[in-house]
Amino acid sequence: MTRYKAPRGTSDLVFPDSEKMERLIETACALMRERGYRRIDTPILEDTELFARSIGEETDIVTKEMYNFEDRGGESLTMRPEGTAPVVRAYLERGLASRGLPVKVYYVGPMFRRERPQAGRFRQFTQIGGEAIGSEDPFLDAEIISFSDALFARLGLERYRLLVNSVGCRECRPAYVDRLRSFLEAMKGGLCEQCVRRTDTNPLRVFDCKNERCRATLKGAPTIGEHLCPRCREHFDALLGHLDTMGMTFEVDERMVRGLDYYTNTAFEFQFEGLGAQNTVCGGGRYDGLTEELGGPPTPGVGYSMGLERLLMALEAEGLDPFVPERLQVFLAAAPGVQREPVLDLLGRLRAEGISADTDFMGRGLKAQMKQADRLGARVVVMIGEEELASGEVTLRDLDASEQWRVPAKGLVERIRQIL
Ligand code: ATP
Ligand code: MG
Repeated sequence: MTRYKAPRGTSDLVFPDSEKMERLIETACALMRERGYRRIDTPILEDTELFARSIGEETDIVTKEMYNFEDRGGESLTMRPEGTAPVVRAYLERGLASRGLPVKVYYVGPMFRRERPQAGRFRQFTQIGGEAIGSEDPFLDAEIISFSDALFARLGLERYRLLVNSVGCRECRPAYVDRLRSFLEAMKGGLCEQCVRRTDTNPLRVFDCKNERCRATLKGAPTIGEHLCPRCREHFDALLGHLDTMGMTFEVDERMVRGLDYYTNTAFEFQFEGLGAQNTVCGGGRYDGLTEELGGPPTPGVGYSMGLERLLMALEAEGLDPFVPERLQVFLAAAPGVQREPVLDLLGRLRAEGISADTDFMGRGLKAQMKQADRLGARVVVMIGEEELASGEVTLRDLDASEQWRVPAKGLVERIRQIL
C-alpha cells in the first residue's frame, strides 16, 4: 500500500488489460497503414492558443476541459485534448504539402481533458486518429469513415450505428445560424444558462448540451439540411452515395454537429448502444477552414478520432475477446543446487531463437517453479536436475499434453520448436 493514488480520472493499465490495449493499437495502426496512412507523432504539449483558436470558444473543451498552465518561462501550454489541431499545425510547420497531396497520416496516444470522471469518461484517455489533408474529394470522407467499419469488422463488432450529417460551410452556415439564433432567443426559457450564453456567442454548440430540458427544447429547432448551399449539398450527397457503394449502413442525423467548431460539411459519429451514456466511440468530419484559421493557405482536410478505452468497453459489453494474450513458450526450472551457467546459457539460446523463455529468480523449489510456470501460462517446461545435467540430458514437459520426456540437451531447441 501507498498513500499515493493515480490522479482522479486517470488510471494504471495493468496486464492483461494493458496487453489488450497494446494489441488493439497494433491492429488499428496496421489497418491505417493498409489504407496508405503514415504515422505522425506530435508533442503532448502545445501552445494554448493553438487549441483555443481551432476548437473554438464556447466548446466544452475550451471553456472547461483544457489542462493548461503557465510554464516556468511564462508561456501558456496545454496538454493536448485532441489530435487534429496539432497535426494540422505540424502539416503547416513542417511543410508536409511538399511531400505530395493528399497527406494521409495517423496518430495514437494519450489525450487530456478535465472532465467529470465516469464510466467511459476519463481525464486521460487514448485516441487513434487519422487525417487526410489536401483533397476535397468526398471519397476521402468515405475512406475516413470506413476505417471504423473495417476495424469493427476485424474485431467482430456488429451492433453499432453510424450517424452522418453536413454542418455546412462558411457560405451557408451563417444564414442557418441566424435562424437557429432567432429560434433559441424565442425559446430562452427552456434553455440552461450555458445555452442562453451560447445563443449569443456560438448557437450551434447548443446541440452538444447534455441537459434534458435543452434537448427537449431543441426538438423543434430548425435543422441545417434545408440551408445547405449547392456545393455542400452536392458533396454530402456524393458522400452518402459512396457510403452506399461501400455497403455501409448509416443514418442522417441533422442534430449531430460534433463538439468542435472547425468542422465544415461532413460530420459523423459511431455509437454503440451497449455503452450507456458514453456511447460514442468515434467521431470526425471535414475541416476545410482549419489550415487558414492556423495561418496557412486554404487547404481542405478530413479526419476521425476514436476513443480506445471506449472501444475496449464495447468489446467487453459484446462478450468479445479477440486478443488472446501471448503465452510464455518455455519456462526453465532448475533443481535447487544446479549451477546458474547452464540455465542462463539455455535461456540465452532460446531467446536468441525468438522463443519466449523465462526462469526462476526467487530461489524456489521445483514444485513452486512448476506453479510459477503455470501462472505464466507456459507451454513447455524444461527441468534441469544435477543428475540429468551430468548425463547431458534434461526433462521436457509439455504442459498442454501433460506428457514428459527425458531428452538430450543437445538439439533441445529443435525439439522444443517441434512441440511449439
Ligand atoms: P463526448 O460527447 O462523449 O464528450 P466528444 O465530442 O468530446 O465526446 P471527441 O472530441 O470527438 O469526443 O473525441 C473522439 C472520441 O474520443 C470520442 O468519441 C470518445 O470515444 C473519445 N473520448 C472523448 N472524450 C473522452 C473522455 N473524456 N474519456 C474517454 N474517451 C473520450
Ligand atoms: Mg466531450
